[in-house]
Amino acid sequence: MDFDYRRPARLAEAVAWLREDPEAKLLAGGQSLLAAMKLRLSEPSMLIDLQDLPELLGVREQGGGLWIGAMCSHASVATSPIVQRLAPMLAQLAQGIGDQQIRQRGTLGGSIANADPAACWPAGVMALNGTVFTDRRKIAADEFFTGLFTTALEADEVVLGVQFPCVQQAHYLKFEQPASRFALTGVAVAQLGSQVRVAVTGLGSGIYRWEAAERALSLRLAPEALRDCALDADIAMGDIHASADYRAHLAAVLTRRAVQHILKSSPSSPSSRTSSV
Ligand SMILES: Cc1cc2nc3c(=O)[nH]c(=O)nc-3n(C[C@H](O)[C@H](O)[C@H](O)COP(=O)(O)OP(=O)(O)OC[C@H]3O[C@@H](n4cnc5c(N)ncnc54)[C@H](O)[C@@H]3O)c2cc1C
Repeated sequence: MDFDYRRPARLAEAVAWLREDPEAKLLAGGQSLLAAMKLRLSEPSMLIDLQDLPELLGVREQGGGLWIGAMCSHASVATSPIVQRLAPMLAQLAQGIGDQQIRQRGTLGGSIANADPAACWPAGVMALNGTVFTDRRKIAADEFFTGLFTTALEADEVVLGVQFPCVQQAHYLKFEQPASRFALTGVAVAQLGSQVRVAVTGLGSGIYRWEAAERALSLRLAPEALRDCALDADIAMGDIHASADYRAHLAAVLTRRAVQHILKSSPSSPSSRTSSV
């Protein structure tokens, strides 16, 4: 396979090369892109390596929230004291991705741009209502993910990073596909003020907000609040690993357990003493 490899020092260069050549692709850690190239599912004419662009690096407290640069590896997020303090769920989510090698190379930006329907990061970004910053605009999580391996990004658009609110009351749980450790089904639950957001990954054709559960949990954050909420198996997909019914059932179980975990880690909540799944 013949392709040109370029390593820009400035963001403007990367964007200009993307515009010049519609077959060019951005390269983050290569954890999805290189595998797709080996399988001939992707045949870019140019790889634009993002590793030197300072705009895409770093984790910091910013504007009352948490900023994570697109090129931050999962490992760097998992071990960041800033992430652990401001949004511990994200550190926990990143720590559960793949294996050590994947976590060292895979990035936040690559994960959300790739929008794999079983990936963990889309659940974290969606549940925490993160805002994706690109080289030209801000995109709310609800508008960013548009379906199976698709996002609102233009072909020549670069993700710079994601801004998250500081959230303590949140938890991510996944049932791992044992070979890859992707989520067979995974659920992120977050309490943002009076609103609870529930994002389910690995269920169907993309990240899914379970709105019935969100309404019930916003009224009462307790596993029992979900008793009458059934997830419609029609939106789930079945494959050799699990049927649609199984995935829908798993999502409900994981949501209850995530809520239970949030309550347990919040000793001030009276329901922490009574809740059960
Ligand atoms: C064996 C294995 C196990 C894995 N397990 C998990 C898991 O448990 N959970 C999980 O969530 N993920 C998992 N992953 C995915 C992995 O963690 C990476 O997040 C994912 O593969 C993306 O890789 P990357 O960041 O290297 O991006 P790349 O592969 O370099 O890029 C992916 C895509 O995003 C585009 N892109 C990259 N950066 C940007 C940017 N800044 N702006 C715009 N577009 C961009 C690229 O052009 C490409 O199309 C696994 C992967 C493997 C191979």
